[in-house]
Amino acid sequence: MKLSIVGCGYVGLVTGTCFAEMGNDVYCIDIDENKINNLKKNIIPIYEPGLGEMVERNVSEGRLFFTTDLTNAIKESLFIFIAVGTPLGEDGSADLQHVLSVARDIGRIIENYTIVVNKSTVPVGTYKKVIEVINEELKLRKREDIRFDVVSNPEFLKEGSAIEDFMKPDRIIIGANSEKSINLMKELYSSFIRKRERIIFMDIPSSELTKYAANAMLATKITFMNELSLLCEKTGADIENIRKGIGSDNRIGTAFLFAGLGYGGSCFPKDVKALIQTSNNLSLNAKILSAVDQINQEQRIVFINKILNHFKNNVSGKIFTVWGLSFKPQTDDMREAPSIDIINALRERGALIKSHDPVAMESAKAILGSEKIEYIPKYYDALKDSDALLLLTEWHQFRNPDFYRIKILMKQPVIFDGRNQYEPSIMKEMGFTYYCIGRN
Ligand code: NAD
Repeated sequence: MKLSIVGCGYVGLVTGTCFAEMGNDVYCIDIDENKINNLKKNIIPIYEPGLGEMVERNVSEGRLFFTTDLTNAIKESLFIFIAVGTPLGEDGSADLQHVLSVARDIGRIIENYTIVVNKSTVPVGTYKKVIEVINEELKLRKREDIRFDVVSNPEFLKEGSAIEDFMKPDRIIIGANSEKSINLMKELYSSFIRKRERIIFMDIPSSELTKYAANAMLATKITFMNELSLLCEKTGADIENIRKGIGSDNRIGTAFLFAGLGYGGSCFPKDVKALIQTSNNLSLNAKILSAVDQINQEQRIVFINKILNHFKNNVSGKIFTVWGLSFKPQTDDMREAPSIDIINALRERGALIKSHDPVAMESAKAILGSEKIEYIPKYYDALKDSDALLLLTEWHQFRNPDFYRIKILMKQPVIFDGRNQYEPSIMKEMGFTYYCIGRN
């Protein structure tokens, strides 16, 4: 089948490449010329394990094309996926300008029956706006005879395991309201569900809202544990024991129960905020989600205060080693990473940061700049003369480091572990002053 994916970010690029892998002819389109030129040379704009090899294979086998030319790609495609960003708007709602601009382009270009698939995360009801905009353009062209369907197909991939998630999804959600689009979507996804039926068809508003509901639920689980971690610190309980204790209950499950620095990334923060705003617009008060959003922001401050308290509010001239900059391991995505707030709080107070991240140093530099922060290629080198080590992202290589070496390199053996990676008793035995989250 022939399809176009508009937007070559984390979602669009993975989606397009995985569809090509299944034998479809795929045009991946982006307005960012630099990105497209690089992709043509197999320079992948993001760090995503396995993606580079898959892109290369599908390009060389003639199924995957990168272009900035929307017109030809759209004219040739039966399916057009919208996979552009929906960042946080000024009022806290999702900014739909990119989605609607693509919809307008589609209305200007299509010649035959087309299925417009919205993969971007969009507020419930957005499909109506997409239909409206396309119809406006068809009317201007006096081509109201051209038929199209708008389908909602939110994406649930996780950065860092995006290929695996897309190729073997837990479920594929499709919101559609015409038999033709339902059958064609089923056919398109049939190669991904050979072993097990995983498509859940539903009405379009439910599909749009399911995506927000999933992210909001996961953000709430994380936040619940972070709130409990404060209680643990005051009572001598250990959040890790609580996690094991409740995670063993099938009704609760083991995932997303780790206390830490709070959620970050390109999805949870903006999607929780957008869902709160959607509720507000409808005169509803999303009380749980408002608390989740607030607690999540405070969790970073809790961590910063642990550092400031240890140094008696004076970190000026102190050197802090930061291990991990990306918002989670296995990605170079820095959007809403807790490291940004923590590093800024320390720099503002005159501290110097020596940082290392296995893949995110370049994207971090674009956000954090070079003032009072160094990006050190080898992570043990970043410990030299350090007053404290801050573990901010739980990359594998930081899980079991050589603590003897750490102690020798540092000026003072102090660790602030924002991800509860180390055992407090062992840290104590080794002579570290050790701070973590919700453990004593
Ligand atoms: P991204 O910012 O990485 O990529 C978006 C791309 O769209 C950019 O390359 C940009 O240049 C391009 N673009 C913008 N306007 C365009 C236009 N008019 N024509 C062509 N290209 C255009 O975004 P992302 O992280 O891939 O997210 C895309 C959507 O998917 C968002 O709604 C997001 O919430 C959702 N989502 C993201 C993830 C994730 O893990 N990143 C997971 C599930 C869903």
